[in-house]
Amino acid sequence: MKNYLTYSKIDTYVQCPFKYKWIYIDRNDYKRNIASERGIFARAVLERYVTKLMELKKKKNLKVFDKIFNTLWSDTYGIILSDYDKHKIKDYLLVYIQKSIEIKHVLAVECQFSFYLAELKLQVSGRFNRVESLPVNRLKLIDYKIGQSQFFFSDSLQSWIYGYALLDRFPEYGGHQISYRFLEKNEFMGFKPQDKSKLKSKIIGVASSVLSDCQMLPTKNKWCDFCDICEQGKCSEWN
Ligand code: SF4
Repeated sequence: MKNYLTYSKIDTYVQCPFKYKWIYIDRNDYKRNIASERGIFARAVLERYVTKLMELKKKKNLKVFDKIFNTLWSDTYGIILSDYDKHKIKDYLLVYIQKSIEIKHVLAVECQFSFYLAELKLQVSGRFNRVESLPVNRLKLIDYKIGQSQFFFSDSLQSWIYGYALLDRFPEYGGHQISYRFLEKNEFMGFKPQDKSKLKSKIIGVASSVLSDCQMLPTKNKWCDFCDICEQGKCSEWN
């Protein structure tokens, strides 16, 4: 029998096995925290904006940006987020789009990836925010981040999975890189995936724990303060 995991499921397990079980095995309700909602809104604006620029073959267009931002806000996010969030997100997105998007290089926006690990009979899938081709046969994955770069380690599960998926899906390119863009502070951090077999064994190490863990115990971590399970009083580790 084939197993299926997404990057975000594996990442949730790494944060806390009990949280993974609560959401994905027991299928309990789980309310996303405000920081996640802010990130989802900002990514949705960028996805639609870059897709539209590709259609229009334009470098940038602030009217298009405003229209997309305001439509998404009034249709969905205005009832979840505050006006303070709205202005803050708009400000940093405007800084980002003025300088950091080269439409002529964009190959794909919000594209699905998937690879198979025969050792675990496991299909792993996920989504790239944006992929660009660069001069001299290089390829860059851009991943949007909302948090702060000082709390982020680029040599971690996300880079292993994204890196392996990049090398697997685009083998014809001579160089691959991942650029994490921290939108709020306009910072970035890079990772160069090179050795596919090393990345694969790291992913297998983590994924096999997800597939074989029978206990799924709660594990305190830096996201506990924002966890809906403790809000509901259902976590034994949180008091
Ligand atoms: S509050 Fe509990 S369930 Fe939530 S992440 Fe922390 S340890 Fe896991």
